[in-house]
Amino acid sequence: MTRMASETKYYLLKSEEHEQTASKKNDHPSVDYFCVRQQVIRKEICCMLICMAIFSMVLIGLFITAAIQHRKSQFIPSQKDNESENNSMILSPSSAKSFPYHGYRLPLHIYPNYYAIHLHPKYDQLITHGSMIIVVTCQEKTDFIILHKKQIVISTISISSVNNRNDSIKVIKTAEKSKYNFYYLQLEDYLQPNHQYIIHVKFTSYIRTKILNGFYRSHYKTTNGTTRYFYSTLFESTHARAVFPCFDEPVMKAIFSISITVPNGYSALSNTRLYLTKRLSNQKVFYKFRPSPKMSVYLVALVVSDFKHLEGKTTSNISVRTWANPRLCQHTKYSLNIAIKIIPFYERIYGIAYPLSKMDMVVVPQFADGAMENWGLITYRETSMIYNKLTDALHTKQIVALTVAHEIAHQWFGDLVTMRWWNDVWLNEGFASYMENVGANFVAPELKLMKQFLFTNYAPAQDQDALPTIHPIVTHAATADQIDYLFDDISYLKGGCILRMLESFLGTETFYRGIYHYLSQHKYKTATHQDLWRALQWATDAKLNVPTMMNTWTLQPGFPVLTLENRSNNTAFIRQYRYLIGQNSSSKTDKSLHKSVWHIPIFLATEHGGLRNFTLYKKSDILPWKKSDGWVKLNINQTGYYCTNYDLKNWNALIDQLKKNYSVFNELDRHQLLYDSYMLTKPNLLTVSVFLNMTTYLEKERNYLPLRESIENLAEIEYLIHDESARQKLKNYILKIIRPQIQILGWKKNTTFMKSKQQQLVLTKAARYDAASVISHSLSAYNRWIHNQTRFPIKFRDIILSVAINHGGISVEKKLLWEYYHANSTSLRQVYFKALASSRNIKLLNRLLNMMLNLKEVKIDETGSFLKLISKNQVASEPLWNYFKSYYALFYQRYKLDTATLADILKELVTYFSTEAQYDDVANFFRLHNDIGSAKSTIPLILSKIRARIQWKKFNEITVKNWLNERVL
Ligand SMILES: [Zn+2]
Repeated sequence: MTRMASETKYYLLKSEEHEQTASKKNDHPSVDYFCVRQQVIRKEICCMLICMAIFSMVLIGLFITAAIQHRKSQFIPSQKDNESENNSMILSPSSAKSFPYHGYRLPLHIYPNYYAIHLHPKYDQLITHGSMIIVVTCQEKTDFIILHKKQIVISTISISSVNNRNDSIKVIKTAEKSKYNFYYLQLEDYLQPNHQYIIHVKFTSYIRTKILNGFYRSHYKTTNGTTRYFYSTLFESTHARAVFPCFDEPVMKAIFSISITVPNGYSALSNTRLYLTKRLSNQKVFYKFRPSPKMSVYLVALVVSDFKHLEGKTTSNISVRTWANPRLCQHTKYSLNIAIKIIPFYERIYGIAYPLSKMDMVVVPQFADGAMENWGLITYRETSMIYNKLTDALHTKQIVALTVAHEIAHQWFGDLVTMRWWNDVWLNEGFASYMENVGANFVAPELKLMKQFLFTNYAPAQDQDALPTIHPIVTHAATADQIDYLFDDISYLKGGCILRMLESFLGTETFYRGIYHYLSQHKYKTATHQDLWRALQWATDAKLNVPTMMNTWTLQPGFPVLTLENRSNNTAFIRQYRYLIGQNSSSKTDKSLHKSVWHIPIFLATEHGGLRNFTLYKKSDILPWKKSDGWVKLNINQTGYYCTNYDLKNWNALIDQLKKNYSVFNELDRHQLLYDSYMLTKPNLLTVSVFLNMTTYLEKERNYLPLRESIENLAEIEYLIHDESARQKLKNYILKIIRPQIQILGWKKNTTFMKSKQQQLVLTKAARYDAASVISHSLSAYNRWIHNQTRFPIKFRDIILSVAINHGGISVEKKLLWEYYHANSTSLRQVYFKALASSRNIKLLNRLLNMMLNLKEVKIDETGSFLKLISKNQVASEPLWNYFKSYYALFYQRYKLDTATLADILKELVTYFSTEAQYDDVANFFRLHNDIGSAKSTIPLILSKIRARIQWKKFNEITVKNWLNERVL
């Protein structure tokens, strides 16, 4: 899944979804339909025999027999079924207290092999009638079965042996445990080991309209303004159980055979190719899909729409289609091209062919996250898949390339091989986060995504991982809330960072040899992080213990600072300790926080001695050293996931080198020197004057990475210090650094992608610090747009609009609000809202905040990202927090069923808070309002970040002021 961290999964205000009461009356298909079904099953059998080499022939035979024997019972209840129905209806569920099974995982004594699911939605009534069989194997003698189900009404459920349909096993009692959505069936007789059984179920579930998961309805508007409905599923992580009863754990992989009826004028898509369609009446069409490979239930997907599509083929003849509403369909070309090129790339580097014969990618009108990697049927939100080069920003192109690359990487890593349990969700997400950069870098090399990795993954990962209350990559999760909370920066971004570090350490060839081994050993099955480490160990000849090394990065939280000092003629001393910021007084004395030791692969360069590498296994060590080596720089190319520190003499030698000839270090290494020297000021491990001195070479710097790193850090210092005269001096200093860049790049229209980003960086900062030339240029461009309809280059749009809103008077506000209300795409609405949110006018900012209370003005799935846009504006900081406190009850109602999204929003609220009074205010508020589920664990992280900013000021403010007084007029 690609996250859309601050966006909401709800798009209406009500907190619960069931406005419809499910009918227990079954809607049985017609006789015609039953005949179709018979043919389908026979053909399906042939298909399974030919296509699936997964199961033994015997097992398949058993399924076939079962399917044929029971096809009728799926749709036309027999006397036996009616008895079962009567039985199940008279049994009352036992209370949670007396629930007869303990544990949060399903027992392994029953294992599903095959699901045949038919869904017959009543689209107008927002309910789905369903019939299904699940063929299961009994692994241990037992007299009970537990399934997952949530908000599903089961009308009949019965068990029989595969071999003998008449050999029915009576369900004598049922019980439910809502905490884990368990549905317990007590059987009259024991099921025997190594025997197969069939669970027959008829049920009714809901089509959701207020929660964007399970099977839900969203909508879009046609060009003539008509509202059309769209239906799709989103099952990750635990929502399949809200559509049909199932064994909803990743490890319970099975074959899925799915069919659905759709309204006339609509078509259906699922994970596999269509097997057949048949018109059932003037209103309904029956769609039947080929059986899937063995897969986890959270990857099952269905889409019912009237969308159009584009189509292409990969070099390996895989059909790829991109689906969107007719107005947007033409703008799926870019994502189609990325997909067509990237599938063969992954096939080559993984060494394993794409496991399915087709790939469908669909733009879902309302979508909770960025995208979802359902096997063979990826679903996206509009802004993750649509790229219109005439209206969309550079950033959108990058997001689309990365998101498509991410989801397709999952088709192997996640779908073919799945994590065994959610505690290892990073195996899916960390790998996809890394591969999205590798893959998109290959198919769109102009985006330089492996370089941008340092901004998109590395820095945000360490930003979270630096806090004392952060969790390790591999973390226990039992409830659905706990599972959802693990879809965070640590699983995605830190996971990606440690894989990048390991690839650089083992070498690319060895790394992918290990990945091939891992995928081929575990395909169509599940695996743990230990399986991955064993595969990589298998691939390497190096004398190192990969599992032991990598356990230090995955099983303990945080990351180390590596310090090299006391260089003498013969030796140097190197030591490691945990990087920590934002500790309160009690955690400072907590020795357990400092016990961690990492196995650190180290690449270093010296001034005269060249490159070296070694691994630090202990808290500290002595290295052989020669004084003639000159300066030393650790962590070459910044591939290691750690910070580096030196004695002042070495820092000064590195700064001298940058000033003398910075090209001795490549762009990544120059970035790293600026990054580390600033990072070390936060826990007070290095004086800020080192970082500031280093920035004095920047007037000569021409590359994006070091410029962005230093300018953003200086801008952060600018908002952290409160002395107005020092702030003004710092603004002047930043303008001095960026002036040469503006002279070189200016407003040139045709530049490379990275140079365009560099233009955006320097012009945005120049505008923020009121550089007269940038303001006048922007206002002229704005006026030409208003008066002559002259378009300006998209890459400068945000800068021009932001200058206009702050310097162009009230008419600009009116114009941009009008454009916002009349924008015809989600991305354009965002463009105009972003410009409005950059205003320094408190009255306008309050108006924007109030717009979020009215869902006609800001859609609910835009609320999170719009709040984030406002939170980036320092002027809005206090009003935003006061607004949140005032409307806390409303936000709580919106997100109480999705506390992971609530947690993401909370993280954005107090970005600029840096005083004791603000800390106390936030702490007191959440002391009173702490009933927020798993989002509760976000509160210590937020407080630690405020504490870290307070501490930074304490350690560094005077030094910054003195440095500016000495250096800047
Ligand atoms: Zn993902």
